[in-house]
Amino acid sequence: MIYDFEIESSKPTRKIDGLMSQVFMNCPNTEKPVYVGLNMEWGQLEALDLASVDQRIKKCPHCGQEHRFEKNDLFLRADGGG
Ligand SMILES: [Zn+2]
Repeated sequence: MIYDFEIESSKPTRKIDGLMSQVFMNCPNTEKPVYVGLNMEWGQLEALDLASVDQRIKKCPHCGQEHRFEKNDLFLRADGGG
């Protein structure tokens, strides 16, 4: 018996240029991280002009209040943490 194997040698190429971290701040009331709605890497965050973004979290998921963040408040967090 002869088996005819077809071997696929296609390597999956990973796209890493599309990966971004989520930007968080700590809730001043509960000190828990709150996602501020931005996605970027450190270089972008460092170069970010805060005047170009909405610096508010309209409703904090932890305490329900509105928070305003400065650049010093922000930090990056990769997915899957917790
Ligand atoms: Zn809060």
